[in-house]
Amino acid sequence: MLQLSNNYKLPASQLNSVADLAVYVHYPFCKSKCPYCDFNSHLEQQTDHSLFFKGYEAELDFFKSNLRNRKITSIFFGGGTPSLMPVSFADKILQKINNLWSVSSQCEVTIEANPTSFEANKFRDFHKIGFNRLSLGIQSLNQEDLNFLGRQHTVKESILAISQAREIFDNFSFDLIYARPKQKINDWKIELETAIKLGSNHLSLYQLTIEKGTKFFNDWKEKKFIMPTDKLAGDFYQTTNEIMADNGFNHYEISNYAKENYQSVHNLSYWQGVDYIGIGAGSHSRVFFDRQKHRKAIVNLHRPDIWLEQALNNKTQVAIQKIEEINDNDLKEELILTGLRTIYGVDIERLNNFFKQEIFDDNILKKLLEQGFITINKQKIAIAKNYWIFANSVIEKVVSALKK
Ligand code: SF4
Repeated sequence: MLQLSNNYKLPASQLNSVADLAVYVHYPFCKSKCPYCDFNSHLEQQTDHSLFFKGYEAELDFFKSNLRNRKITSIFFGGGTPSLMPVSFADKILQKINNLWSVSSQCEVTIEANPTSFEANKFRDFHKIGFNRLSLGIQSLNQEDLNFLGRQHTVKESILAISQAREIFDNFSFDLIYARPKQKINDWKIELETAIKLGSNHLSLYQLTIEKGTKFFNDWKEKKFIMPTDKLAGDFYQTTNEIMADNGFNHYEISNYAKENYQSVHNLSYWQGVDYIGIGAGSHSRVFFDRQKHRKAIVNLHRPDIWLEQALNNKTQVAIQKIEEINDNDLKEELILTGLRTIYGVDIERLNNFFKQEIFDDNILKKLLEQGFITINKQKIAIAKNYWIFANSVIEKVVSALKK
């Protein structure tokens, strides 16, 4: 397993060395649309996988021509529901990545899966072709709430899928959603303790949020259900953190908890400013192209059919909808915003070296430290633990400490 290090490599264009690269592969199809989901997911269609592979291949070739000398440290198949992919199709994508770049021998290779029996039967084959980490969308261990969340699997299937995952993968994670309408803190305590006993070394625990454009948004507006108050949601968060700490989990990111050395390398790449590319409909990339001074922000076309058409036919820009250079001020803000989501925080010295100037106003930082919003340890700024629940407002304060 890849050991985490705060000495991850900055992009090659800046440091003249081989920089790390994380690869995200988006598979945009699901069996049904969950009412809370605002991801780029579409109902599963008759997919011509050989054509789809050509689309992914064209995108990977495009990135290779701009990122010649990189080391791949993580690969993540997300969605949608990538576990619906035929195994041979996933294998071809992995092989293509392997053929294009040097892949670290400790590369973390994750696939997201739903715990239906159809998908669980494929775990062993996914493992055989090179996936060494599985991330399961369990969401609840309470059948009534699973139904409310519109999930297609049952609690029984979840337990079975988790035990299959445990047998096959040393490294697997699952997601739960809490602070659900009508949920009681005591019931959540029992549910979370049951989840912990299922033996995963990594859990992602998200509060239910109501996103615009989802079915839940309309239902909530029409008062079909009532969401917990902010105070109650805060109590849920507090309880969650206490239970996870009592059980030896390191709370390393706002919604993520891991045993020692089981943090998600791929997600940490996003949060710690490592370059990443995203292929597939609607995916994003943040990357320094070879010999370019500014980092690029890239967004792909959203609709799978349009993405495919462009990926296959547009030789110069494949399926990119938008490609922009990030200026230094925006990049500083972005690195702070993502870095402060984790306990590892933001390394002041690293940023100063990178931007070749002192980027923070020391007086403002000192004030934030005195007020208890942040900690500074060995030149690393992090949000004080009791302010994680107000992370967004503390991040704003730290951004305001940037020198103008
Ligand atoms: S399975 Fe996941 S990606 Fe698909 S609709 Fe449900 S939450 Fe969204």
